[in-house]
Order: sequence, then structure tokens, then C-alpha cells
Amino acid sequence: MTAAVDLHLHSDFSDGRLPPAELVALVARCAVHTFALTDHDTVAGLPEAAVAAHQRGLRLIPGVELSVTWAGHELHLLALGIDPDHPALRDGLARQAAIRRERARRIADRLARAGIPGALEGARDRARAGHITRSHFARHLVESGHVADFGAAFHRYLGRGRPGHTRSRWVSLEEAIAWTRAAGGVAVLAHPHRYRLSGRWTRRLLEAFRAAGGEGLEVACGGGSAGAFAGNADHARRHDLEGSAGSDFHDPANPWIRPGRLTPLPPDITPVWHRWPGAAS
Ligand code: AMP
Ligand code: MN
Ligand code: MN
Ligand code: MN
Repeated sequence: MTAAVDLHLHSDFSDGRLPPAELVALVARCAVHTFALTDHDTVAGLPEAAVAAHQRGLRLIPGVELSVTWAGHELHLLALGIDPDHPALRDGLARQAAIRRERARRIADRLARAGIPGALEGARDRARAGHITRSHFARHLVESGHVADFGAAFHRYLGRGRPGHTRSRWVSLEEAIAWTRAAGGVAVLAHPHRYRLSGRWTRRLLEAFRAAGGEGLEVACGGGSAGAFAGNADHARRHDLEGSAGSDFHDPANPWIRPGRLTPLPPDITPVWHRWPGAAS
């Protein structure tokens, strides 16, 4: 299936592989006409994406994917339709950047103790504008020959419980939703099926999310199973949340994930993009 709307895409301003202008060219080739750039904790790629989208007559929804901590869990929130220059959001992103920098140092220290020195420099060299994610460490581990592939980097070093993993205290779910709304955006919980929460904890999370002003759930995701999709749709209905759809595209070398390769939302779920006049259906 290909959809005309894709509200979750990464550029090389975070851990995507394409610069925003090349990402926008690919989005156009994939027949997507309304898209959100949602880099991890940064809006720095939006100006370049806006120029490219304008040139091609595409609709850019300005976004960012925020890492948040809720009840000890690390979750991802998509802030969509934001004013990236809003002071509350700017301040929040500055806090996130400081948390990311400090975390990158801790990851590198842990990797050094596991026998891999120099990982901070390795990750930094691969991160445009110095905005380091675990994906940059993973690329360093692959390219310096410590692991065979990206998956192994997470499995052996960077995933939970592994030698290079460290728990971070990101901003709270409530704060991130508050900045999103202050900046005129809508808060969407990203890829709800990936958190490995029990039914009970998922219910608690969605209640807390809604109580804090969260309004959308990413029902359709790139790479998700039919079962995950159906489960997400049920959560959206039960908690009266709008539905979003996003590929979480990072890398053109991944054959499974393409901009717009998404299952359509069930007709009874209100698409979050109904808010933006002119967005495709
Ligand atoms: P961070 O936000 O720094 O924790 O980095 C998280 C990013 O790493 C995610 O957005 C994914 O792009 C990537 N990632 C996380 N886990 C895996 C995995 N098991 N395999 C491949 N990529 C992963
Ligand atoms: Mn990522
Ligand atoms: Mn995510
Ligand atoms: Mn993402």
C-alpha cells in the first residue's frame, strides 16, 4: 500500500541517512504529498525541508520526535504541526540536547570499559550538527569492525541491558506535551506497539497521555505487523484518540521501509491530519 500522507520521517539532522532536500525528493518520488519531518529532538532540518517541499509543491508538516520518560519507561512522542521557533519548544529542545550530549558521553564511557575506545569521536563524526543518537554509535561500531551489522550493534552493545546501554532521564511526558501544545502542535504517541508494555501499563500510559493533552496515536507504522496495526487501532478507539500514520523512514538501504508505505487507517478513526486544511486524505 502507498499512502499520500506520511507523518514520521528522519533526515541526517538526526539519525536518518538523507539530507532533508534528498529526503523530500524521495518523498516526491514515492507519491507522498503531505509529510512531516520528525528528527529526534531537533528541528534544525526543517528550514531545508521547507524550501525543498515548496519547490516541489509538497505539504510539509513541521515536526519533531521527542524522547520522553514516563513511569521509568522511555517513550517517543511526535510533536506535529509545531511552530519550531516557539520559545517553550526551543527551551525544551535545548534541555533535550544537553541530556543527549551527557548521555553520549556515558555511552562512550561504557563502551570504552567494554574494550571499545574512541566511540564518542566515532559517533560525533557521523552526526551532522553534533546531534548524537544511538544509531550513530551503531554505525561507528559497524564501520570500525566491532560488529557485523546495525542490528548486532544494538543487540550486543546498545540495547537495553547491554554493556553500552545507559538509562537516561529525558523530559517528562507531561512537559513534552505541554511544549508541543504551546507551539501550536498536536502530540502523537509514536509506534505504541514497540514499548513492550503489558495491557495494563498500556492502558495507564494512554490515560496519562490523554490527561496531559495528548491527542493522537500512531496507528499505522512502517514495518509494523497487521496485529500491531489492529491493536493500535483498538487503543485509539478505546481512548478516543485520533490516528496518525508514519513510516519512521531512516535509510534508503532498508528495503522494508519506504516513505508512504503504510496501511490505510480504518474509516472510523479520525486522521490527525484533518486539522491541516489541504493535507491529503
Ligand atoms: P536514541 O534516540 O539515541 O536512543 O536512538 C534510537 C534510535 O536508534 C531509534 O530511533 C532507531 O532509529 C534506532 N534503533 C533503536 N533500536 C534499534 C534496533 N534494535 N535496531 C536498529 N535500530 C535501532
Ligand atoms: Mn531513529
Ligand atoms: Mn521512535
Ligand atoms: Mn522515528
